Amino acid sequence: MSNPAVYPPPTAPGANMFGNMPGYEGMVAGGGYLPPPVPLEPVAPPQPGPDPEEWTIPTLPEDIARESFRSFVSTHSCYSKSPVTDGVITNMEPFNTYRYRLETFTENRKTEQAEKPYEGEQADFYTQPAPQPWDIPATTPSFFTDHKEKIRVPFTSSIKQCIACNALGTVRCEECNGNGTKPCHLCDGSGRRDDEGCSSCDATGKTRCTKCDARGNMDCETCEGKRQMLSYIKLKVKWTNHVEDHVVQQNSGLKIDLKSVSGKELFKNSQSLLYPLIGFPNPAISEASERLIKDHQTKYAQTSRILQQRQTVELIPITKVNYKWKGDTHLYYVYGNENEVSADNYPATCCCVIL
Ligand SMILES: [Zn+2]
Ligand SMILES: [Zn+2]
Ligand SMILES: [Zn+2]
Repeated sequence: MSNPAVYPPPTAPGANMFGNMPGYEGMVAGGGYLPPPVPLEPVAPPQPGPDPEEWTIPTLPEDIARESFRSFVSTHSCYSKSPVTDGVITNMEPFNTYRYRLETFTENRKTEQAEKPYEGEQADFYTQPAPQPWDIPATTPSFFTDHKEKIRVPFTSSIKQCIACNALGTVRCEECNGNGTKPCHLCDGSGRRDDEGCSSCDATGKTRCTKCDARGNMDCETCEGKRQMLSYIKLKVKWTNHVEDHVVQQNSGLKIDLKSVSGKELFKNSQSLLYPLIGFPNPAISEASERLIKDHQTKYAQTSRILQQRQTVELIPITKVNYKWKGDTHLYYVYGNENEVSADNYPATCCCVIL
């Protein structure tokens, strides 16, 4: 371990101490994002050969519809079960719809000036040129998972005296003004109560300060008592998965966000930069693919490096179920692989207070 005194910073420490460090000249206090160095070019992959035969969802069986409806009703305490048990299904109509999902997995790098209590780290400032932000190795997590990492940039560390405590490692205890004791609050510091010696403070008029353990001073919070700080450039690496969906309009009348459900996966591919899905049987999907990929590449390539993109097309089952109960026709929807149910205007709510 080197003696830190061997490596005094060659320039006076201050706001601009990194101003002349190659690769960090433009660094401002608080940091800023660093544009990635090399933009990539998308490569056209083989396009999917759609096989509409496989891209169908079997019609929802009646008993599944009824079961889903039953469990939906049972989660509502003020819904009567009568429409489920006595209702008769008269018609079931499928309105299956496509959902296109684009995921763009990015890496973003920022630098900022940082300090930490000095704990014997090597003060390597200027012993070698500091590596460029995008040349610093960081372990990429598995794709499409958010993650963060903080790295001390090599060859940027120097030792400074702690300003907060004037390099003493301790600061005066404010609770007792550095005395280690406080006036006894029962006798107001007089040592006497009711013409007798105060029993609480043994007639001394003082009580021990518990905040500083009667020391009169406390460890400096900035340097944690180490007297010195290590000043360095901190690299913050952030991996983010940006997810965006496009659900093709369907005319079922179902007014619900389909985000919470899954469907049957029809197509999926991933690449470092995606090529739009052309020639999909539903043109709205091809359009969404082109638009979203373009959007993401414009939006994220400016400030981040796009590491991987993934596009998925799902077919989400939606069934509109009509049933007869007490002479009237009502309806509900069963949707998603999870067989979620939506039933606006449920005909038999037994209490009128809805919170
Ligand atoms: Zn104190
Ligand atoms: Zn007292
Ligand atoms: Zn300090």
